[in-house]
Amino acid sequence: MDFRDSAADAAFRQEVQDFLAAEMPQGITQPDDAVLGVGTGEDERDMAWLKILAKRGWVAPAWPREYGGASLSIMHQFIYNEELARGRAPRPNFLAIGLIGPTIIVHGNEEQKKEHLSGILSGDTYWCQGFSEPGSGSDLASLQTRAVQDGDDFVINGQKIWTSGAHRADRMMLLARTDPDSPKHKGISAFVIDMHAPGVTVRPLTNMAEVHSFNEVFFDNVRVPKKDLLGELNRGWYVATTTLDFERSGIINAISLQELLKEVVAATKPLRYEATATAARHELADRFIETEVSIMLANRVASMQAQGLIPNYEASINKLYGSELAQRIACTASKLGGLFGQLGPDSPYAPMLGRIERMYRIQVGSTLAGGTSEIQRTIIAQRGLGLPRE
Ligand SMILES: Cc1cc2nc3c(=O)[nH]c(=O)nc-3n(C[C@H](O)[C@H](O)[C@H](O)COP(=O)(O)OP(=O)(O)OC[C@H]3O[C@@H](n4cnc5c(N)ncnc54)[C@H](O)[C@@H]3O)c2cc1C
Repeated sequence: MDFRDSAADAAFRQEVQDFLAAEMPQGITQPDDAVLGVGTGEDERDMAWLKILAKRGWVAPAWPREYGGASLSIMHQFIYNEELARGRAPRPNFLAIGLIGPTIIVHGNEEQKKEHLSGILSGDTYWCQGFSEPGSGSDLASLQTRAVQDGDDFVINGQKIWTSGAHRADRMMLLARTDPDSPKHKGISAFVIDMHAPGVTVRPLTNMAEVHSFNEVFFDNVRVPKKDLLGELNRGWYVATTTLDFERSGIINAISLQELLKEVVAATKPLRYEATATAARHELADRFIETEVSIMLANRVASMQAQGLIPNYEASINKLYGSELAQRIACTASKLGGLFGQLGPDSPYAPMLGRIERMYRIQVGSTLAGGTSEIQRTIIAQRGLGLPRE
């Protein structure tokens, strides 16, 4: 690919930069959690930013204009995301705007698009993704939550786990088994669930960074009207893979990681000693080069999309490399932060307001969320390198 901006791309990049300079309020930059997409979400801050984006028509610039987006080309979406990440702008309602809305646009009928997309754009409806279950994470197709037809409704029973944001959500995109007798990929359907419906119970799970970002969700005879079936009956697997494809591609992580690294470099500088300065410089240089590699990998995915190709194992390479790099950056930050780096936000001596130790713990999840590293490696081995299955 040609890495240089065309004249039109450069003009658009300038437009985004000017917008950020003029409109992004001071002090609303995203916390590191957002790099991982599991931000605890500071509602008021995010909502204020969402309203500013809405005024400019840039809440969901990738969506077609007819659904409230800006119909940006792939390259302009890439530039938009790149510039927002450079500016460390928050990503309000990220799951709904980045994954669920686009899935509804592909698989939903006109009524569903009308019902759900405007709430996502305005930030009035908050969504969660109900895919994983206690026995079904990597082997998602083995999920056991059941949806049984009863008159004009489906009746849902079962349990989901690790559901990010379920405690704040109004809607869930749920996968449930509708045909237990078919092969496992062919008996699943996707539904839109009203999280306030009778029979839905959300229980908090606190992660190892002591943040409540995900939950267990239980369904006890929850009635879902047929109109809320998303896509065709028993073809929910294809709906799910659409969502996962959106989840694994994207530039935001790579650029955000580089911005985070720059912050680590500055914050740990006063803590470095003469004797270890050279080793620290080498380690930081390695990390910086790796962020450049990560950006190149994201460029590759965008460039394929711009040519009408569908990235597959390329998106897995992106996800694998970016998530493992995030952990290496957290590790480098802890090492260079030394004992100070272990201090939390309450200490006046903590570099980066105590975010180093929190980042170290939070990033553990990055190689699990959205598909583990082992699963990504298998995809790369089989589809990318053409290695045999066993
Ligand atoms: C921060 C975070 C947020 C999340 N948010 C959501 C969410 O909002 N919604 C949602 O539905 N889910 C969510 N998840 C769940 C996530 O998708 C699963 O954790 C992930 O798919 C792994 O599944 P599992 O936890 O069941 O692990 P398992 O699948 O049980 O895997 C356990 C271990 O075995 C390995 N393994 C499994 N199968 C294979 C294989 N075939 N070959 C080699 N190794 C294998 C795995 O790599 C892993 O190391 C989230 C997870 C995290 C960490």
